[in-house]
Amino acid sequence: MSVIKEAFEGLYPDKEFCYNSKIKYSAKFNDYNANVKYTQDSLCFNLSKKWKGVSKEIQIGLIQSLLNRVFKTKIRTTNIDLYNIFIKRVHYTIEKTESDPILDESFERVNEKYFFGMIEKPNLKFGKDSFSKLGSYEYGSDTVIISNVFKQSPEFIDYIMYHELLHKKHKFYSKNGRSYHHTSEFKRKEKEFEDPEIEKKLEFFLAKYRLKSLFRLPKII
Ligand SMILES: [Zn+2]
Repeated sequence: MSVIKEAFEGLYPDKEFCYNSKIKYSAKFNDYNANVKYTQDSLCFNLSKKWKGVSKEIQIGLIQSLLNRVFKTKIRTTNIDLYNIFIKRVHYTIEKTESDPILDESFERVNEKYFFGMIEKPNLKFGKDSFSKLGSYEYGSDTVIISNVFKQSPEFIDYIMYHELLHKKHKFYSKNGRSYHHTSEFKRKEKEFEDPEIEKKLEFFLAKYRLKSLFRLPKII
């Protein structure tokens, strides 16, 4: 039986498995990242190459978590629990290859100031020019990604760095097959950032940035 079918039947014992399905182990992804592409009758799981070396029980948990997302269900299984334990600890094993001088400095400042220097340094990189996704923390590759729009604004970089390092530190909390990342404890910690006005300033900065890009006219050749 395929791993996908086994994962599906473990999650939905009463449903029939009627999909063309496959797992692709791709070199395109970093470390332990993964996603799923779903159409009406097919499920294609893209897992990074590193997943090949992970036990089948944990791979089933990963696939079940992705199935929960695709089918908007919130079912919990032992495999999902195993996967959650794995993904919360995997950062210890990940080689740190990505860094950037601006982000390195921000990391050092924020780590000293809010975490007593206790956070192990993750991979750090700038992402796209996005002002909807300002930052993210990828558990599967232990990477903090910060939107490129902040490259010239260390003040905001520190705030977003702080938010993402809180994710690295506090991980997530799972209940009934769902993961909660922004818990009330998280929000309380987030408010400890030195500048209480930072959210307002950030909104203002983003509004200005959007306006600027609105008026960016096509170049006339
Ligand atoms: Zn967050």
